[in-house]
Amino acid sequence: MIKIKIIQGDITKSSVDAIVNAANTTLMGGGGVDGAIHHASGPKLDEACAKLHGCKTGEAKTTPGFNLPAKFIIHTPGPIWRGGHSNERELLRNSYKNCLKEAEKHQCASVDFPSISTGVYHFPLNEAAQIAISSIKEFKAHFIKQIRIVAFDPVTKTAYEKALKDKEK
Ligand code: ADP
Repeated sequence: MIKIKIIQGDITKSSVDAIVNAANTTLMGGGGVDGAIHHASGPKLDEACAKLHGCKTGEAKTTPGFNLPAKFIIHTPGPIWRGGHSNERELLRNSYKNCLKEAEKHQCASVDFPSISTGVYHFPLNEAAQIAISSIKEFKAHFIKQIRIVAFDPVTKTAYEKALKDKEK
């Protein structure tokens, strides 16, 4: 069984097998957590990402962590919220599932996720948290033992804690 934890912090500091990056489809860096990860990982990440030729929304691609304490970075562009009728929920579920598949492929035991799509992509926080927790709980893992959601702010932390509690009822 995967152990799920919710913590507050900066995901660029995570010493785990893999961290997830809430990227955009170019994979060339951006604002928010993506910018922080590219800055902390260093120029080799930009070079590695350039060779990947982008990534579709809901899919995931992996690079080394380079200057990060994490061994791998799993990049996934989450969906941009467009009001809820553009397949956003399914795409967010795909992001979580495909990141977990990538983590298994690289035999990762510990994976940290940020709150995908709830920043500039404006996915409603409580629903995003429910989708994150249910996608993780449904996943059949072999190597993964621990998953943490690394919330950057207390409101995000509370939303994921509530989603986890509701799922455990
Ligand atoms: P998206 O484009 O998928 O919405 P954002 O980066 O705008 O991605 O936001 C996703 C979440 O990541 C937000 O809750 C934001 O506050 C958070 N975030 C920003 N920087 C960091 C960081 N260094 N570590 C963890 N989470 C972060």
